[in-house]
Amino acid sequence: MVVLVTGANGQLGKAIEFISVNYPDVHFNFFSSSDLDITDKKLTEQVFNSIKPDFCINAAAYTAVDKAETEQDKATLINVLGVKYLAEVCLAFQTKLIHISTDFVFNGDKNSPYTEEDITNPQGIYGKTKREGELAIQLVLENYFIIRTSWLYSQFGNNFMKTMLRLAEDRNSLSIVNDQIGSPTHAIDLAELIITIVLSESKNYGIYHFSNEGTASWFDFAKKIFEINKVSIDLKAIPSYEFPTPAKRPKYSVLDKAKIKKEFKIEINKWEESLERK
Ligand code: NDP
Repeated sequence: MVVLVTGANGQLGKAIEFISVNYPDVHFNFFSSSDLDITDKKLTEQVFNSIKPDFCINAAAYTAVDKAETEQDKATLINVLGVKYLAEVCLAFQTKLIHISTDFVFNGDKNSPYTEEDITNPQGIYGKTKREGELAIQLVLENYFIIRTSWLYSQFGNNFMKTMLRLAEDRNSLSIVNDQIGSPTHAIDLAELIITIVLSESKNYGIYHFSNEGTASWFDFAKKIFEINKVSIDLKAIPSYEFPTPAKRPKYSVLDKAKIKKEFKIEINKWEESLERK
């Protein structure tokens, strides 16, 4: 089994690399953005030609949610055109594509978990480009798994958990929004899920939702991060309007995971438990 991972220096790429040692029968090839730019189709073809991957895991993306509001062209280039090229190259080399998408494809007006069939309606440029990337794959390929996930964190890369711990180093108090509800997801759990898919030989291609179990507000998430790390800090819960951001975020983006649990016969960790074993 030959697997090519794009965006290997990002949070998810690093998490996949971290657990890859546990799968000696899988031959992983990790490519960072400087080795393989997914917006360079010719280079992508050359890499695929030399590796001939059975699976491509696309962990490459433009992920700066707020910056995307003023960098629409860049976000589109990577999240739409780059993803389209990747899908086309996957088709040419008969490579199955595992692509990662986001809860931000939804507008957040629901108050029960979003299923794969729910109507998308992204609120910001990032979510919009991620949704267009999904559509680009669906137009080109049949052999794809698109995994929508949410609130990724881990010891790798930049994420909310690391931001909280860094801020706590020189602040005694923090104000955190408590009216956006979602599910924190450990990048290692997502990486394990992706490898489960690779090894499953499933041909039930399509869109799947995956996050850790349970729900939280950013305030709940922060509170638990500090509790587990034994950091004493004064935390204040605030509404989103007191913390305006360039990109609008869904107020509720919990994902329904029934489909992925049934197809891959998996149990999913509760977010608090995954955070504990960080
Ligand atoms: P990161 O931003 O940590 O990693 C993305 C990686 O993609 C970076 O290493 C970046 O490289 C690379 N990259 C950017 N442009 C290109 C390009 N043109 N060609 C190749 N590589 C490129 O993101 P995460 O690991 O956190 O996210 C993984 C996936 O999960 C993404 O698809 C994201 O949309 C999705 N997701 C993330 C969530 C989160 O909370 N983080 C939540 C929901 C979904 P460089 O650093 O050099 O720019």
